[in-house]
Amino acid sequence: MTTITNAIAANSAATLATIDAESLRQSARRAATVSEQAAAPTRWSVAEVAELFALPFNDLLFGAQQVHRDHFDANTVQLSTLLSIKTGGCEEDCGYCPQSAHHDAGVKAEKLMELDEVLEAARAAKANGATRFCMGAAWRSPKDRHLEPVMDMVREVKAMGLETCVTLRMLKGEQAQALKDAGLDYYNHHLDTSPEFYGKIITTRTYQDRLDTIGHVRDAGINVCCGGIVGMGESREARAGLIAQLANMGPYPESVPINNLVAVEGTPLAGTAPIDPFEFVRTIAVARITMPRAMVRLSAGREAMDDALQSLCFLAGANSIFYGEKLLTTGNPQAERDRSLLARLDIRTEGYAR
Ligand code: SF4
Repeated sequence: MTTITNAIAANSAATLATIDAESLRQSARRAATVSEQAAAPTRWSVAEVAELFALPFNDLLFGAQQVHRDHFDANTVQLSTLLSIKTGGCEEDCGYCPQSAHHDAGVKAEKLMELDEVLEAARAAKANGATRFCMGAAWRSPKDRHLEPVMDMVREVKAMGLETCVTLRMLKGEQAQALKDAGLDYYNHHLDTSPEFYGKIITTRTYQDRLDTIGHVRDAGINVCCGGIVGMGESREARAGLIAQLANMGPYPESVPINNLVAVEGTPLAGTAPIDPFEFVRTIAVARITMPRAMVRLSAGREAMDDALQSLCFLAGANSIFYGEKLLTTGNPQAERDRSLLARLDIRTEGYAR
């Protein structure tokens, strides 16, 4: 076995040496050293990220896999389960979101779930193999009276031995600190897209509002879960712009969900032409190369992907999935199908938490 592994490694080096994409070699080398440069992280220009996107598909995937293997066990993924603890009626107008009160997507506004219901879902997630439990609430920003029950949820879910993550949208600094004090591990807040394309998708809050919330989360010492959505009609340059924003955060997010638009009837983005699946895989690969130590998560839109496409995403460096339960208001492949796919790919999941 060791001989085979050594042979593959030697062949990999030889193959890499023959790829005439010099930019890939430079980018992969640079990406591999980013993690050692915490004090002076490398900055990526949008043009450099766009160069990665433009590589021949096989070269890009090969480079991403190399970087992935430098930092992770390539045959393990982490499972997160997401529960919508407060659905619908959101004041924001995000063009993709059925929970926005600005759109008529048939999602009714609900109250915050009771603690017992949340804990029951968390127990089920843990029994199904999830190591992280994410709780999402459709608020523009939480009022202080909302925060106390959410903090109770964080404390109790954490006491079960699960990592905790919440997404409550915009946060003030003292709210982030309160969540940290309750034991929160991760806060999810997406950039969604590039600064230039952002205004076509959301008008009720600014890109800077999002960066400010992420700054408060960082300052409080909470891990950042931050990514975006592709397939919203944006250009490749906009996708490169999103990845550059994420990679240049300094430090870049610990978790980077890459969502594929689920075009829901009743939202402004219904009817948007789907993105080429290989372009989605490219986005995963570019995220992996530019953020070598991040957990890159296959998130919304996975239900519509067949097994072969998901496998390509793992090859491109995705190492986390949303699993089980419902992914906020859109569907998620059933846990059974996921388990079957992971088993066919010899991908392990147990005990993989970060
Ligand atoms: S994405 Fe979040 S902030 Fe935007 S409308 Fe939906 S629930 Fe509200």
